[in-house]
Amino acid sequence: MQTVSTPTHCPYCALQCGMNLTPLPEGGVEVTERTDFPVNRGALCSKGRTAPALLAPGVRLTSPLVRSEGVLVPATWDEALGRIAGEISRTRAEHGPDALGVFGGGGLTNEKAYALGKFARVVLGTSQIDYNGRFCMSSAAAAGMRAFGLDRGLPFPLEDVPRTGCVILVGSNLAETMPPALRYLTELKENGGTLIVVDPRRTRTAEQADLHLAPRPGTDLALALGLLHLIVAEGRTDEAYIRERTSGWEDARAAAMAHWPEYVERITGVSVPQLREAVRLFCAPQAAMVLTARGPEQQSQGTDTVGAWINLCLATGRAGRPLSGYGCLTGQGNGQGGREHGQKADQLPGYRKLTDPAARRHVAEVWGVDPDALPGPGRSAYELLDALGTDIRALLLMGSNPVVSAPRAAHIEDRLRSVGFLAVCDVVLSETAQLADVVLPVTQWAEETGTTTSLEGRVLLRRRALPAPPGVRSDLEVLHELAARLGVEKGFPTDPEEVFEELRRASAGGPADYSGITYRRLAEENGLFWPCPAPADAQECEDASLDVLPDDPAYDEAAPVLHPGSPRLFLDRFATEDGRARFAAVSYRGVAEEPDDAYPVLLTTGRVVAQYQSGAQTRRVEELNAAAPGPYVEMHPRLAERLGASDGEAVAVVSRRGRAVAPVRISRAIRPDTVFMPFHWPGEGRANSLTNPALDPTSRMPEFKVCAVRLERVGGVPSQ
Ligand code: SF4
Repeated sequence: MQTVSTPTHCPYCALQCGMNLTPLPEGGVEVTERTDFPVNRGALCSKGRTAPALLAPGVRLTSPLVRSEGVLVPATWDEALGRIAGEISRTRAEHGPDALGVFGGGGLTNEKAYALGKFARVVLGTSQIDYNGRFCMSSAAAAGMRAFGLDRGLPFPLEDVPRTGCVILVGSNLAETMPPALRYLTELKENGGTLIVVDPRRTRTAEQADLHLAPRPGTDLALALGLLHLIVAEGRTDEAYIRERTSGWEDARAAAMAHWPEYVERITGVSVPQLREAVRLFCAPQAAMVLTARGPEQQSQGTDTVGAWINLCLATGRAGRPLSGYGCLTGQGNGQGGREHGQKADQLPGYRKLTDPAARRHVAEVWGVDPDALPGPGRSAYELLDALGTDIRALLLMGSNPVVSAPRAAHIEDRLRSVGFLAVCDVVLSETAQLADVVLPVTQWAEETGTTTSLEGRVLLRRRALPAPPGVRSDLEVLHELAARLGVEKGFPTDPEEVFEELRRASAGGPADYSGITYRRLAEENGLFWPCPAPADAQECEDASLDVLPDDPAYDEAAPVLHPGSPRLFLDRFATEDGRARFAAVSYRGVAEEPDDAYPVLLTTGRVVAQYQSGAQTRRVEELNAAAPGPYVEMHPRLAERLGASDGEAVAVVSRRGRAVAPVRISRAIRPDTVFMPFHWPGEGRANSLTNPALDPTSRMPEFKVCAVRLERVGGVPSQ
């Protein structure tokens, strides 16, 4: 039997590593290196290598489940879909459309995210839709919009990183979250560049740094302001750049000058000499970058914190210039695309604003509806989940597991139990699916075609490599069927390319313009960076982008009309109205919950290399579970000594919201005033039982990264 290899991409994180999938004659699928994809050049982490394990029968769901007499039992698709449509109709009739909630995920393809947003607004008529990407990068998105007028995770490709002069990496542990990306930092150093890592822990990434700054969790804002103070005081600003390409400098400078280095040292614990060294390294080369991730973003002042780090780039002329700039390392597989095409509470496809009348008219025309019929913005993710059982009576959830991943998770679990009706589409019976009234088994990445948009803003084609098992349907089929049962017969195709063709039209002219991108171009060009508008002439677009491939003699003639995509943004102007980047005039304020006598220690949370997000998938993979079998509480030897706890002993971590129990892992890599817990597990070791849902006022992102806790010895070693 001849085997055919399909080039595609990993189902997990935003690096979207290229891989080949080859079905094996004896069953199963083999992952092999795909060296033609330039981002990972064949390298994969353990999650990517083992991803096919979830395709096996027995691990994943293959039949709809319907709750009957309190128990989930197998049902036909007709029964399951009929139950969902019936509950939606009943709830809407009794309580109105906004009693219906929709919760999506940053792992959904662009096509699914687009269809889900359209389904909520056109079929259900509800404003109550948001997604778990709100938990992932929304503060960086808000800060990027404010500063540059556009949010694209990285405004340059990763290949630029090794060629810049200095990188400040803030709150990112690439060695654990996306290991193949670590080589960009290694190459940076090999090329003579310098790396500064900001992290309260001396992670494996921080170990690579020329300078590691370990601020107290939640003080990244003060740190950035202190660095800007020194940049000004030492005369290292680029005044010509500030004059020509920015606005708001006077106010931002005045705010930063109130943050004296000694004051910043007291807040952050980073010494003045270290602050001066960071400024010296950052300002020495011609080009430099600041990259942030969840550390500074998942805070109740995350938008201002990221804004303060962007200020460093603007003050020194390091944005919108070659090999320089600010970027956010988005986490989830399609965290970027997922926030561009309509599953976010305030957005329409193409990164359009739901409150913009022109945007509403454009999208309504593509959808064939009255613009006035489109609902307005709804609640953000945490607020939506918090409203379950009160204002929101029924919820359709797709590709998310908030029982493990939401802050104040025990409360959210209660809300999910109290909602009148819960339907979940998932690959596995996640902790959230276990609470559902109806569970629909859906196809996985290797069984369906669709596009994702990586952290670089590179739109990629994931290709179907093998058929789905009997009993499983795609999310697009689910939405098509539900729409039909709710009286909308047209507008929800099941073919992903057909959905993408509509998405192209809906995004045309918007900030995230995909109209010049086609499946055929993606197949040939290893991805295209947005914005990528279609040629102005519709016929040219039809002729050139849809029908001519690079190996066709007509391609050379047609190619000039094709937009090449936009790997590098802002080189001529920023996307603001006046083309200038805007400084953020921000001052330090503390986190929502400072330590006190009752809760004297800080908790910060994060990921480990062998697990992914809520762990719903990776906890089912034997090799990954063996490498990372359960949660732990990392603490400094001095803190362990004060507590009287030894390595491996179970301790309870208690916050104002709950309690989690896990074994101690003693490490000198963490500050003595802080403990760290990975958040991938449910049950007694659930880190998110402790986390604080205090929201950033702009991005509505919860403060996952820091809260006050106390530690208690409980004795024994917890089972895992
Ligand atoms: Fe997949 Fe991310 Fe690992 Fe690459 S780094 S293999 S995209 S999980």
